[in-house]
Amino acid sequence: MSIAATSPIRVGISACLLGEKVRFDGNHKLDRYIRDTLGGYFEFVPICPEVAIGLGVPRPTLRLEGDPQQPRAVGVTDKSIDVTIPLERYGRKMARELPPLAGYLFKARSPSCGMERVKVYQDKGAPKAGQGIYVRELLAARPWLPAEEEGRLGDPVLRENFVERVFAYHRWQQLGATRITPARLLEFHARHKLILMSHGAEYYRTLGRQAAAVRRETIKDTARDYLAGFMAALQRPATRKRHANVLQHLLGYLKRSLDHADKAELLACIDSYRLGGLPLIVPITLLRHHFRRHPDPYVAQQYYLEPHPAELMLRNHI
Ligand code: SF4
Repeated sequence: MSIAATSPIRVGISACLLGEKVRFDGNHKLDRYIRDTLGGYFEFVPICPEVAIGLGVPRPTLRLEGDPQQPRAVGVTDKSIDVTIPLERYGRKMARELPPLAGYLFKARSPSCGMERVKVYQDKGAPKAGQGIYVRELLAARPWLPAEEEGRLGDPVLRENFVERVFAYHRWQQLGATRITPARLLEFHARHKLILMSHGAEYYRTLGRQAAAVRRETIKDTARDYLAGFMAALQRPATRKRHANVLQHLLGYLKRSLDHADKAELLACIDSYRLGGLPLIVPITLLRHHFRRHPDPYVAQQYYLEPHPAELMLRNHI
C-alpha cells in the first residue's frame, strides 16, 4: 500500500459515471465534468460492485429495504434476490485491496454506491434515508477517504471542497511514502495552516497541539489521529467569513511592501468578497500578484494560495 512521491492522484469512481454500460438496464450515467475536467488531473479507478459480485448486465433492479442503519439489498420484483452479504464482503475486500486512493466519487441514489439519502423501503409508510451497502463497508474501513456523490459536484462549494480534500489527502499520502517523522508531520501541519484556518481556526490550534506533542516512538498513532482530525476539519466547508480572515492575515505579510493605495484596494477587494460581491479568485489573484512582486518565504510555503490547479477554476464560483 505504499505510494511513490510522484504517484498519480488515483480516485475511485462508480464505473457507470465514466460511461461504462454497467447499469441494471445496460446503460451508463456518464458525467462529462468528471470525465473531461477532473479526468485531466485524476487517474480514475472505475468499479461497479454489482457487476463485480456476479450480477450481469442487464440485471434485475435492486433496492434497499428494512432497517435504515442495516438495510438489505434485494430485488424489486424478485424477492428471492438478496445480495446484501456479497456487497458487504466486496466493500471490505476493496477497502483492503484497492491501491492507495486519494478520493472516491460515488453514483448517488444507488443501493450499492449511494453515499447518503438512498431510499430504504419500509413495510409501511414512506421510505427512510440510508446508505448503499458497498459504500458503507468501504468507508467504514477508510473513514478519512475524501468521498462525494456526482450530483453534489454541481454545487460549487461542495465541488471545491471535494477537490481540495483530494489534493490535501494526496499530499498526505506522499508524506507517508517517504517515512513520516515528527519533523515532517510538523512541516505538513505548518504548510496547511491557512487552509485549516479557512475551515476553522480552532482546527489549526487543536491539530497543532497534537502535532507538537508527537514523539518518534508514537509517530504512527499520532499520525493516524492527526489525519483523522485533519480530514474532518477539511470536510467542514470553508465560509466567506473565514476565507476573508485568512486573506486579511495574508495582507499582513505585505504591509511593509505595499503603498497606501495598493493596501486600500486589497482591503476593499477582501471586503467585497466577504459580502458576496466577488468570487474568491479575485482577492486571491490580487494577493498572488503582490506576492510575486514581494515574495515572502512563509507565504510561499503555504498551500492556501493554490491548493489545487488554477485551471480547474474552482475558486471562480465560490
Ligand atoms: S451505481 Fe454502482 S452498482 Fe450501479 S451501475 Fe453504477 S457502479 Fe454499478
